[in-house]
Amino acid sequence: MTSLIYSSGWKNVSLIDVYNSVSFTLWLCGCNLKCPFCHNWRLAENDPGVCRWVSIDEVVESLSASLMFIDYLHVTGGEPLLQWRPLSKLFQEAGDSLGVKRSLNTNMTLKEPFNRLLEAGLVDHVATDLKLPYRELYGLPADVSDRLWENYLENLKLVSEHDIPLELRIPVSRLLKPEVLEESLTIIGKHLHKLSNLVIIIQPLMGPPVTTPRSVEWCVKNCAIDGDFLSLLNDVLRKHGFTKIAVREEPA
Ligand code: SF4
Repeated sequence: MTSLIYSSGWKNVSLIDVYNSVSFTLWLCGCNLKCPFCHNWRLAENDPGVCRWVSIDEVVESLSASLMFIDYLHVTGGEPLLQWRPLSKLFQEAGDSLGVKRSLNTNMTLKEPFNRLLEAGLVDHVATDLKLPYRELYGLPADVSDRLWENYLENLKLVSEHDIPLELRIPVSRLLKPEVLEESLTIIGKHLHKLSNLVIIIQPLMGPPVTTPRSVEWCVKNCAIDGDFLSLLNDVLRKHGFTKIAVREEPA
């Protein structure tokens, strides 16, 4: 039986979705978070106006035509792990049949599916946000956010144990205080320092007219950060021993 995946489409060759790499990028619909700054919120909400069922075969066929140009098949969303079964099949085919490396952009709040993919050796690169303060950025009730944050921390440990190349993106809003970042780095630093390939991307959040976020009101209040603040965050990261840091000024 043909496997289907709910997707808003793909880009055959992308230069911006994986740091310093070229990718074939596939967007999957649906998400378990409700980040107020999300600019992909229509696909995160499974909007049938932007999402459709596509067969894995169709994706693989298109992917195979891009092979000579790309470093990764990069799957993003939404939250791709909500569709972990067809995603596993796609990653399996991409690796076994086409020999392409697989990159997963995930919010890392779902434990079981993430564990399955990693244990099966299906993920060669992970991109994830360090959303701080998570209670504000997850857009969910506090108790739910707390549970998902625990999952995030456990999944980060898993990435570290498997030593998977990690692109850790820090979305920066006015709610991110240096002391909040400090506190978080104290908790996760031990996992991050074990990784042999880690890049940290400081990503200032942008509001309209550059993006169309889920909550325009939230973004008008909390997005748009000045350069001095970004330097301050950079200093905090360096103080904690991280040196491979980049700033990304466009939404990804
Ligand atoms: S920013 Fe990412 S994790 Fe948050 S709602 Fe949007 S797709 Fe989901």
